[in-house]
Amino acid sequence: MQFHDSMISLVGNTPLVRLNNVTEGIQATVLAKVEYFNPGGSVKDRIAVRMIEAAEQSGELKPGGTIVEPTSGNTGVGLAIVAQQKGYHCIFVCPDKVSLDKINVLRAYGAEVVVCPTAVDPDHPESYYNVSDRLVRETPNAWKPDQYSNPNNPLSHYHSTGPELWEQTEGRITHFVAGVGTGGTISGTGRYLKDASDGRVQVIGADPEGSVYSGGSGRPYLVEGVGEDFWPTAYDREVADGIVAVSDKDSFQMTRRLAKEEGLLVGGSCGMAVVAALRVAEKLGPDDVVVVLLPDSGRGYMSKIFSDEWMASHGFLDEGTGQASVADVL
Ligand code: PMP
Repeated sequence: MQFHDSMISLVGNTPLVRLNNVTEGIQATVLAKVEYFNPGGSVKDRIAVRMIEAAEQSGELKPGGTIVEPTSGNTGVGLAIVAQQKGYHCIFVCPDKVSLDKINVLRAYGAEVVVCPTAVDPDHPESYYNVSDRLVRETPNAWKPDQYSNPNNPLSHYHSTGPELWEQTEGRITHFVAGVGTGGTISGTGRYLKDASDGRVQVIGADPEGSVYSGGSGRPYLVEGVGEDFWPTAYDREVADGIVAVSDKDSFQMTRRLAKEEGLLVGGSCGMAVVAALRVAEKLGPDDVVVVLLPDSGRGYMSKIFSDEWMASHGFLDEGTGQASVADVL
């Protein structure tokens, strides 16, 4: 009989798909690593498995224990799936700007969700950070993975995403492009690809305009899951050869094009990463192989990026068409 022991063993081994239409005029091969094929629908399933298994081995996470993490989205889903299969409880802390749909997804997987006000300082007792610290102190057998500082976040990519890309491209990958949030994806995958290629593979981060990775101060942007206002320790500053800053408008217009032209219904950070990848690929030749990682699916963004009203209200639609031209995006 052919079956998997549980959803946990379906994490990773996601497909690479060539982009055929948004790449018009580009000579290099541009391949997308489509992470929504993970069971929880995002790249974050990878870090959930490794962070939990490492904490079991080190004894930090005890049988029947509780996982407490400030997360509103993809990391929470990954942790919730792995936790329920292994008999742990989850409490997630979210800011109140998070949509009810996202909170309900976490609850559907059996997690408890505590919602905190966004409009308070980080040191306020009700802040997202302080509430999660208090829950860790007050909950018996609690463990906080802390994806921003947990070395198993980048390590999960060093041991899965990186080797998968090297094998899938038969070592022909020349450039790797990924959005930067905690920095785990780019640091772990990038480091593996540098090691495997003796430094030949170029690693490029994609960042929302205004975030620290591209020299900003953390000015607000609307693309979710990427960009920061501080430097997480999960981010290895030595790995990226360059960082490309992308505007919200370009990110979201490309996200819509990926659905319409490539059959890829993906999230806004995917559009952002593809814009960066195309800017890199434009300057390359036919022997180059650019891989861009697409972290999640577009299903969680239907009332934002895929709503004309929402796009128009932020000035992200071009007059009349609701479409972006290639010239606008590149
Ligand atoms: N895109 C989305 C939608 C995400 O949830 C994340 C994770 N925060 C990222 C991109 C960036 O990944 P990383 O945290 O590994 O840098």
